[in-house]
Amino acid sequence: MIELHDLTKRYGDKLAVDGLTFQVPRGVVTGFLGPNGAGKSTTMRLILDLDRPTGGRVTIDGKGYGHLNEPLKYIGALLEATAVHPGRTAHNHLLWLAQSNRIPVGRVDEVLALVGLTEVAHKRARGFSLGMRQRLGIASALLGDPEILMFDEPVNGLDPEGILWIRNLMKRLATEGRTVFVSSHLMSEMALTAEHLVVIGKGRLLADLPMAEFIERNSRSVVRLRTPHPEQLLDALTRQSITAVPGPDGSFEVSGGDPAQLGDLAAAHGVTLHELSLQRASLEEAFMQMTADAVEYHAGPAARPGIDAAGATGTWGEQWQPAGGRGSEKKQQKGAN
Ligand code: ADP
Ligand code: MG
Repeated sequence: MIELHDLTKRYGDKLAVDGLTFQVPRGVVTGFLGPNGAGKSTTMRLILDLDRPTGGRVTIDGKGYGHLNEPLKYIGALLEATAVHPGRTAHNHLLWLAQSNRIPVGRVDEVLALVGLTEVAHKRARGFSLGMRQRLGIASALLGDPEILMFDEPVNGLDPEGILWIRNLMKRLATEGRTVFVSSHLMSEMALTAEHLVVIGKGRLLADLPMAEFIERNSRSVVRLRTPHPEQLLDALTRQSITAVPGPDGSFEVSGGDPAQLGDLAAAHGVTLHELSLQRASLEEAFMQMTADAVEYHAGPAARPGIDAAGATGTWGEQWQPAGGRGSEKKQQKGAN
């Protein structure tokens, strides 16, 4: 298990990681989601002790990385800039890593087979495609047979086959009871892989919840109504205490409404409808909405990570707005202020 306590990293006057507190549990894939620049890679570097925190701490099975004996046996990582010497063969790269961590050399061929690089094991890395380099990086991470695996944007730049392979590998590693922590800036990717979700924006924790819960909260639908007689429609809705908000192109939208019920209501009041349609927000939109509002939710000095997490997800569920709705107005206002 990885545990972060108030982890903070400042670069000059830039807070890259801002008081992060969360745990990465065993046996599931935990998705680490945030837009570019949110602080995901920095957090992962802090976990691996490749960078010093400005404040707070992070532990791996209760210890700091620096206190782990032969760390590759505890935690394996594929980072964004995982480098392989271009003149080295895949086999030699892994052999060197194995020897420096007292890992039996037989493990090298095992991991090469596991990632499907056996045939090119004795070819130099300079001729490798991005997909092959990613596989080699993953082989390095798996070398010490660690209980904890961390992958920073592993599917970036990969072809569909490579993406599918990595997704399945991560799920399998979690099924074996390992801790799998994987970052992405794509909600759609996380939805396909992760069982648990940690969302950050501008270095701060925005949500820490099971993926199923995120999906349920954000599968809220909106019914769009369009009529040549808006006053009559709004009057009919108001009488039933139904709130409609203006949608695009002069339409109206009812959050969580039932199209059949709204259609019947309009008919009962003799209101002609030119459109009656169910609109679903995509998870990607929900994620964008959540991170776009991050500044607003966390501006107050009293904001604390635990409360932020609950507040952000709760409020954001209530304030669901379709893309191009009030969310974008808010952003413009912020810019104007
Ligand atoms: P992500 O991986 O989520 O895209 P990063 O962790 O790479 O985000 O970056 C978070 C923020 O910290 C960014 O604004 C980035 O410019 C800044 N940052 C990251 N590393 C450094 C560094 N070594 N020096 C200065 N700023 C950095
Ligand atoms: Mg990154």
